[in-house]
Amino acid sequence: MDGSKINGKDVTEEQLIEEGYRKYSGEKLDIYYSKDICEHIGNCVRGNSDVFEVGRRPWIIADNGSVDDDIRVINTCPSGALKYIKKG
Ligand code: SF4
Repeated sequence: MDGSKINGKDVTEEQLIEEGYRKYSGEKLDIYYSKDICEHIGNCVRGNSDVFEVGRRPWIIADNGSVDDDIRVINTCPSGALKYIKKG
């Protein structure tokens, strides 16, 4: 699933916040997560446990991975619970 889009359109921060996503800011990439949509399948944690670590606060630290790898992992999320917006 393309984590930069919803229904084929580029996501905006306003839309994501309105839909209940929480923002996890990084230097070059912001990651957004919806606990209501998450199916707890764990692709994110298996994909990069430095970025996604259940039990840590915050549980997502975007800057612990490269932008390209963060995007790769986000795109493996099957539910759409993870989205991203690239900065700049
Ligand atoms: S990959 Fe997506 S659905 Fe699976 S646990 Fe992570 S956020 Fe939730």
